[in-house]
Amino acid sequence: MTDTTALTLCVYCGARPGHLPVFTQAAREVGKAIASRGWRLVYGGGRSGLMGQVADAAVAAGGHVVGIIPSSLMSRELGHSGLAALHVVQTMHERKHMMAELSDAFLALPGGIGTLEELFEAWTWRQLGYHSKPLGLLNTAGYYDQLLAFTAQSCSAGFLSAEQNALVQVDCDVDALLNAIAAQCRPAAADYSAI
Ligand code: AMP
Repeated sequence: MTDTTALTLCVYCGARPGHLPVFTQAAREVGKAIASRGWRLVYGGGRSGLMGQVADAAVAAGGHVVGIIPSSLMSRELGHSGLAALHVVQTMHERKHMMAELSDAFLALPGGIGTLEELFEAWTWRQLGYHSKPLGLLNTAGYYDQLLAFTAQSCSAGFLSAEQNALVQVDCDVDALLNAIAAQCRPAAADYSAI
């Protein structure tokens, strides 16, 4: 088993804060929980929206936070200057590749289409066997209920297996979800060279 005392968690989440305060509260809870477990946070490197909240809360709690941001998004997403490391890369592909390579597991918080794209990429790579890293979805305030209804419908329609659908662990409770992710972490088996 991977040493779950030192997991590196990749967090995908909104570059916007969303309208409900509970989204910000949950993002800060995630950042603080990662740091207090002695885990490392890898994320998109911005200071905007929930991204900034997760990072700020982790840094404030003494966590090791690494950001990865394309140079073209430095001003739009407010590249974070207070991290252990901020890698400025050239393309979105480089960003996603590096985020995935550095991490033991993936966690999506509420977010928009960027977050969905990142979650679905990590999910499809897992389905295809490119990696075996755990995937988590924080369903704060039922934000993802309709997405989950859709993937259930996809199973019913025969486009997604129940087994693949169950690869994403879903919870609205931060600690329960982080515990479930830690329990599923296995020795690194990623092979992103194929992508
Ligand atoms: P959003 O969920 O739309 O607020 O975006 C969250 C993060 O995903 C932001 O840092 C975006 O830069 C990033 N993002 C946007 N589009 C993509 C994409 N096609 N692939 C990967 N990340 C993206």
